[in-house]
Amino acid sequence: MTKVMHFINGKLVDNSSNRVGKVFDPALGVDVREVALAEEADASAAIRSASEAFPSWRDTSLTKRQQIMFNFREILNAKKEELAAIVTEEHGKTLPDALGEVTRGLEVVEFATGMANLFKGSYSESVSTSIDVYSIKQPLGVVGIISPFNFPAMVPMWFFPIAIAAGNTVVLKPSEKNPSAAIWIAEKLKEAGLPDGVFNVLQGDKVAVDSLLKHPDVQAISFVGSTPIAQYVYESGTAHGKRVQALGGAKNHMLVLPDADLDLVADSAINAGFGSAGERCMAISVVVAVEPIADELVAKIASRMKDLKVGDGRRNCDMGPLITAEHRDKVSGYIDIAIADKATVVVDGRGIEVDGDSSGFWLGPTLIDNVSTSSKVYQDEIFGPVLSVVRVQSYQEGLKIINDGRYGNGTAIFTNDGGAARRFQNEVEVGMIGINVPIPVPVSYYSFGGFKSSLFGDTKAHGLQGVHFFTREKTVTSRWLDPSHGGINLGFPQN
Ligand code: NAD
Repeated sequence: MTKVMHFINGKLVDNSSNRVGKVFDPALGVDVREVALAEEADASAAIRSASEAFPSWRDTSLTKRQQIMFNFREILNAKKEELAAIVTEEHGKTLPDALGEVTRGLEVVEFATGMANLFKGSYSESVSTSIDVYSIKQPLGVVGIISPFNFPAMVPMWFFPIAIAAGNTVVLKPSEKNPSAAIWIAEKLKEAGLPDGVFNVLQGDKVAVDSLLKHPDVQAISFVGSTPIAQYVYESGTAHGKRVQALGGAKNHMLVLPDADLDLVADSAINAGFGSAGERCMAISVVVAVEPIADELVAKIASRMKDLKVGDGRRNCDMGPLITAEHRDKVSGYIDIAIADKATVVVDGRGIEVDGDSSGFWLGPTLIDNVSTSSKVYQDEIFGPVLSVVRVQSYQEGLKIINDGRYGNGTAIFTNDGGAARRFQNEVEVGMIGINVPIPVPVSYYSFGGFKSSLFGDTKAHGLQGVHFFTREKTVTSRWLDPSHGGINLGFPQN
């Protein structure tokens, strides 16, 4: 069985121990390769490689750094189907969905090719007599990126194009569940002309993460994953003096007002609830229906679900498997909880017929109505194809439910009333808002991130906040004397 290795200083490198993890093809339900699980010594080697590459990369001209990013953009664009196939094999999402993921990542690469403009400082002449003040942006040094299983290509690309174009060097620690996309990316960055050591991949689990969090040469950490780990990474990373942005889990609501177009809502709920088998941090997992439309809306969603084809993502299906058998069992356990909590299981995805191998990690789309906010089905991030409906009597009741939630990643309102939508965007305590758009993932030149338990740290991913995260600013106050020297003055200059 082949082993996915580290990529350090421009080369594939084996582990210092024989600790490995299994990598599954979730549609086949079998392990297809194994992955090295780093020890602290492997992490140190990756960090050393990035540290040694930093001085000359930092001093490489902006023009050259942009050109390499542009070369990478061209290679990625030409070969994106290859990367999508790797994502589908190790994650299970359908090929078109995997291609969509790669395309969203590509857009951040395109954003980073404009680093020369984003990197500009500012200049104020004559702030005092003969004195000018200006600011310059500089890279931080070695940055660590730790990514989750659900977007093995896109989430790393939220960060490394900006980090690298800004002059930093990177150690990426991908999810051990789907490690191959990161190696493909590393090889293509090298092909694009990136010097060895600027981008390194460290495979592994908690040992690798803890090594990055503790190592004194790592200046910053960008983390994406579940809330408990995000909180841990934030607390540990900042305690070790690092700049940290840690994006966590989510439970996203779609508030449906009675005047909404219910056919648009039903289509949107299906797309946002069951796309990527619900394994998206921006998935809609709760429809909050303002009466009297709930019966009609539930019927429209349920009738559309009959047509969804579940199966191997390489075939012509709408939805693939879940990531592991263990996760599938956990998600399907919520259907039992719903029944025990006296919710109404309108469509039960267990035992569904699939177009794929019977050993795959399958669970069909599931719709649960009359979910109580006190149920674990409502409260937990299920991260699977389970869509809940909570019925409310008013906009205010729906808004309160959303604002009382512990997460604040994404949300959407569906209405034809512009005033109601405007009020919602003002009052809802969530970081990314859709108005008649179910998955409001910001484009690359805006920033991605939520509130509350969905983001620890104050800086979001990509856009200007991404540039801010990967740079630090120096402010210079300078005086070039003209021949008329002003003499000694112990006070602050006043004019
Ligand atoms: P996860 O938290 O299990 O893993 C994320 C990363 O942390 C992986 O690289 C993993 O190896 C590492 N890790 C796991 N356990 C660890 C531990 N005990 N100590 C240190 N590191 C550890 O998350 P996942 O299951 O891979 O991904 C799904 C989660 O990610 C969901 O909660 C989802 O909402 C979240 N997510 C959030 C966003 C966002 O933008 N907010 C985006 C994508 C995914």
